[in-house]
Amino acid sequence: MCCFQHLSPRTYNTIDFENNDYLQELRKVDTDVAQCSSCLIDERRGNQSHRQAHILANANNETRQTKLTTLTYNCENTCNLACITCGPRYSSKWKPDYQRMNIEFVSFEKQSTHKNTVYKDLDFSCLKFLHFQGGEPLLTDDHLLILSKIKEQNNLENVVVSYNTNGNFLPSPETLELWRQAKLVKLYFSIDAVGEQYNIVRNPGEWHKVEQVLLYYRDLDLPNLWIEIGTTVSLANVFYIQDIINWRDQFFSKTHNDDEIKIYITFAGATSYGGQVLALNNITPAIKSAALAYVATVSDDVIKNTLTSALNSVRGSPAHADTIVDYLNKIDQFRGTDWKTTLSKLHTAIHE
Ligand code: SF4
Repeated sequence: MCCFQHLSPRTYNTIDFENNDYLQELRKVDTDVAQCSSCLIDERRGNQSHRQAHILANANNETRQTKLTTLTYNCENTCNLACITCGPRYSSKWKPDYQRMNIEFVSFEKQSTHKNTVYKDLDFSCLKFLHFQGGEPLLTDDHLLILSKIKEQNNLENVVVSYNTNGNFLPSPETLELWRQAKLVKLYFSIDAVGEQYNIVRNPGEWHKVEQVLLYYRDLDLPNLWIEIGTTVSLANVFYIQDIINWRDQFFSKTHNDDEIKIYITFAGATSYGGQVLALNNITPAIKSAALAYVATVSDDVIKNTLTSALNSVRGSPAHADTIVDYLNKIDQFRGTDWKTTLSKLHTAIHE
């Protein structure tokens, strides 16, 4: 299960991993499973989807077992940020702005482990991979409760634990102690911009604070720690990708363990209103042309090729300009930001 899929309309008090109707449906990897429509749309556009990446990553696994070997745990949607391409499904912080913008949304209340105690009855003895995502997983106790349960079952040393985190939070002493006992800890920091662009793209986050947290993790003496930057590319940040690369190269190129820190690109999509408006496929011909010229100067070849191919795959329409400007103007109005200045390259491209 992952954060892109449509969640089960049913709530389960216990889970039979072999026979659960919802999980059986999801296992039909070779058919167009409705719950996976977000990934299927990505695949039709020629991008590698989250689903495909996961299948590839597990290609060498011995057999497909119906045991709990991999768990992706969606923590509640509590988040301290309201990123410009996110929405209330993932961030509680977004709800007031959706209401002010009169955007319809389904009130989405995820349950934390305080209410959702399914994990208490799970057999973690065969677990190998555990991934936490939110909201912001480090804002909840969910991960601590589950890691402690795995430790109780004497399997923590065999588990690769990973997190999508927004890089705003330091680990508690208890978290660090549990991480030390895991096989490997992977932290995927969601960093869509640096400097003043960060403050608008990941509002109300403040880059100077986030940078200090990231440097703490860079210097953390944790032998089993591995780090990657995850960047969600949208029209808001496509003209500022080189700034992220420059910052990575200068300050964040290696962990304390001397492992290289890479940047992994994904694309904003229709999981929220902002994601839809700022997705590359909502581009205008003028923005596309300016973005292609900018991307050609990007210093990292993998990122350059990924972005060039994504930009070339979208056609664009001049009619999209009004929606983009309207959305960003509303964001400014509610948050006191100034996108025309901070995202001046996008502003210029829109009006070319
Ligand atoms: S940090 Fe993640 S969950 Fe929070 S608003 Fe940003 S994208 Fe959404």
